[in-house]
Amino acid sequence: MDEKGGKSVREIRINPIIPTESVLIATARSMRPRHSEAPAPRDTRAHVETCPFCRGNEDKTPPEILRYPPEGEWEIRMVENLFPVLGNDERNQSGLVFGLQQAIDGYGRHEVIIDHHLHGIAVHEMSEEHLAALFSIYKDRIGQLYASDDRLKYVLVFKNFGPEAGASMAHTHSQIIALPVVPQNLQDEVNNSRAYYDKHHQCIFCTLINEALTFETTIYDRESGEILRRINVGQYVVERGEKFIAIKPFASRYEWEVHILPLQHNSDFLDSSDACLQDLARVMKRTMARLDAVIGGAQYNYFLHSRPRGKAYEDCEASYHWHLEICPRTSIPSGFELGSGLFVNTISPEEAAEQLRSVNLEENI
Ligand SMILES: [Zn+2]
Ligand SMILES: [Zn+2]
Ligand SMILES: [Zn+2]
Repeated sequence: MDEKGGKSVREIRINPIIPTESVLIATARSMRPRHSEAPAPRDTRAHVETCPFCRGNEDKTPPEILRYPPEGEWEIRMVENLFPVLGNDERNQSGLVFGLQQAIDGYGRHEVIIDHHLHGIAVHEMSEEHLAALFSIYKDRIGQLYASDDRLKYVLVFKNFGPEAGASMAHTHSQIIALPVVPQNLQDEVNNSRAYYDKHHQCIFCTLINEALTFETTIYDRESGEILRRINVGQYVVERGEKFIAIKPFASRYEWEVHILPLQHNSDFLDSSDACLQDLARVMKRTMARLDAVIGGAQYNYFLHSRPRGKAYEDCEASYHWHLEICPRTSIPSGFELGSGLFVNTISPEEAAEQLRSVNLEENI
């Protein structure tokens, strides 16, 4: 038992989607190998005169790509990134490629979406209609970028909130990076879910969702008949909508990590209907409100994982399942984690999911 009276856990859990990515769940405080990050002081100002992303300062941003709505006062704006990590030109090779050293052109696109005209608004404070419009802009832009150049293999949409999560601007924003390569973690998900499909003829994400919704089991001692352990997998569900589910992964890398997945199998975010995006907005808003109530002001990243483009990914429609990962950063990776690749999570996912579920949303939405 730990100080809070909860059952302490210390075990290495294997991520079912990426088995090479294991997590050490160690809830006893003495195991804590790192200190907590301070929550980002939340900037709740509605308008900041000097902020280039605030209304009225449109001339201070790089060229605009689109605005929503197109007429009248904008709610959402997309602009080019002032300091792109990838650019349109292809003449930036280092010339250092030799022997085993391989490089690919740093070709791609990097754009910024100003999520809301209000400077310091949090995701859970945005209306469902607004969030649905934002997701619809993500969808349209990903589609446009893929259509613009078939060398683009993956378009990553993500959001950083707080300086530790990599956000350099306080004004709420997300980013789109179009890459000529598929990120390794996504490649691992694709490979492993494909291998699982080949063996079981089932999508591993769907299997996990089914388990989360229905699976319950009790393990008895073979001799005494005593109950050894009761496993209630339903305990990982954080939020459930009509078409989406928010789950606390069993082998979570981060204490408050939550994944949102469509209940119905779909490999590609671009296939989402307007009704889907509406429900996603609702589940997202409620999940973020739960996270805010439990770990208010925490810095976080969220990102979309969907089927990549290119011949090598055409066959993973049945095996891959798109999802959105939310990763609040409540601690800094220690040398142990960076050196071993083994994440340490000091709050058991069961306990975290329980805390998130017990939030009274009436007070937070
Ligand atoms: Zn601003
Ligand atoms: Zn699936
Ligand atoms: Zn993923």
